[in-house]
Amino acid sequence: MSYFFTTPGVEVRERRLHSVITYHGTAKDLYEKSLDRSHAPGDRSYSQCSCCMGSTASAVAHIKDVALVCHAPIGCDAGMFGLVLQARGSALSRRQEPFDLHIISVNIQEKDTIFGATEKLKEAIREADRRFSPRAVMVTASCASGIIGDDIESAAEEMEAELGYPVAPVYCEGFKSKIWSTGFDAAFHAILRKLVKPPSQKQEDLINVFNFEGSDVFTPLLARMGLRVNYLTCLASLEQLETISEAACSVSICETLSMYIAAALEEKYAVPEIKAPSPYGLNWTDAWLRAIGRALGREEAAEKLIAEEGETWLEEIAALRERLRGIRLYVITGDSFAHNLVNIGKSLGLEITGAAALHHDLRTDNPASVNTLNALIESGGDIPNFTVCNMQPYQVVKILRKLKPDVMLCRHEGLTGIGSKLGIPSLFEGDANYSAGYAGVARMGRRILEALQTKRLLENVARHTELPYTDWWLAEEDPFYFEKDAEERRGNGGPEA
Ligand code: SF4
Repeated sequence: MSYFFTTPGVEVRERRLHSVITYHGTAKDLYEKSLDRSHAPGDRSYSQCSCCMGSTASAVAHIKDVALVCHAPIGCDAGMFGLVLQARGSALSRRQEPFDLHIISVNIQEKDTIFGATEKLKEAIREADRRFSPRAVMVTASCASGIIGDDIESAAEEMEAELGYPVAPVYCEGFKSKIWSTGFDAAFHAILRKLVKPPSQKQEDLINVFNFEGSDVFTPLLARMGLRVNYLTCLASLEQLETISEAACSVSICETLSMYIAAALEEKYAVPEIKAPSPYGLNWTDAWLRAIGRALGREEAAEKLIAEEGETWLEEIAALRERLRGIRLYVITGDSFAHNLVNIGKSLGLEITGAAALHHDLRTDNPASVNTLNALIESGGDIPNFTVCNMQPYQVVKILRKLKPDVMLCRHEGLTGIGSKLGIPSLFEGDANYSAGYAGVARMGRRILEALQTKRLLENVARHTELPYTDWWLAEEDPFYFEKDAEERRGNGGPEA
């Protein structure tokens, strides 16, 4: 069963999907280990960052008509400022009127951890109602609310009755999981429980596209197959969410983002998930369009679209491949999106010097879903220096210094800074739409060529940069020194003071 019908929260990925947070070896070896789940989840004695609340917020804060109430100390919500900018940028890039996000922090304080903070939570929800007149409220949990055992469920039910619209708790306490993407699942579970309505009619031309913030390349692309895109969840209205159960199928820009909700929609409302890798790289774009065509009886339209895209882009892509010959690429992003970017690299003929995924799910929610790591190996061969590293900049520094790639792609802006400080041209893949489809491959090729022109400048930057690590760590040979298995091999608990 993929959907947790009877529980307020969804099981964390570590237990549900046997997800792992440490690995180093090759992509093929990791995939083979996932078949019999012989790779342990792993752990570190030193960890720099990991909280799933940020990914929860990125899935629920941008929904129009919804207010977000964070049941947390104010420090946990400091990162929300970034979401405000993302929402405005996304609206502008889609030629929509920018809108403000509606977020309130309960600001749990020390005395609340003794006396409880549910009264404060209810007052914060009333305040959100007064200020923003939302049509639904999402309430995110935090470590503090989880540890003191605040009854968010009852508070939400009480406020729902008082306000007359959905109040949806999202159980994304940071300590529950070391895997960011657990936050997506928590958000989608709350959406499924409280916002999605059973279908009143099927909409045969409506396709759910689970996505992040950013521009929207899917609406114009799929319109050429006669399809209407339900772009979820950033900038979606409440009506768009309520009717996702009526769509003809679901697709995604990243299986890691959407696998839970896509599996749940298939199981509960018979909305099929398209079983093909996301449209990143030429071969995966073709496979994705064909799979949609097959599922919706639009095979001819899919073939026509593929042919038109080829005619428009293949000549330029061939020229880019020539110019990029011999360039060594390193990729670091979330699990399946790392596979997407590596696949684009393969379409551009780049040499893949290695990749790091922020975690890896050894299985998928829907057993029939595509395994993107396996798809990557099958279509482009094995990948050396494949690492699972849940956002540990101190490890990334060591890996990059060792591999010395010509260019790096990452989806988290802090990591581009690390690359630049090491003299490596680094591209921030903030808008996941930008590199989708044939056009995305061409855009990526052009962007990499531009980035390579900064090489000498960045080498100069690197010469004058002091990294914030001790001489001991910079001289230590093993980037995986703090991983549990390395420590067990050494028979100690870490470096000497
Ligand atoms: S929820 Fe927990 S892990 Fe997340 S920011 Fe707050 S204290 Fe840190």
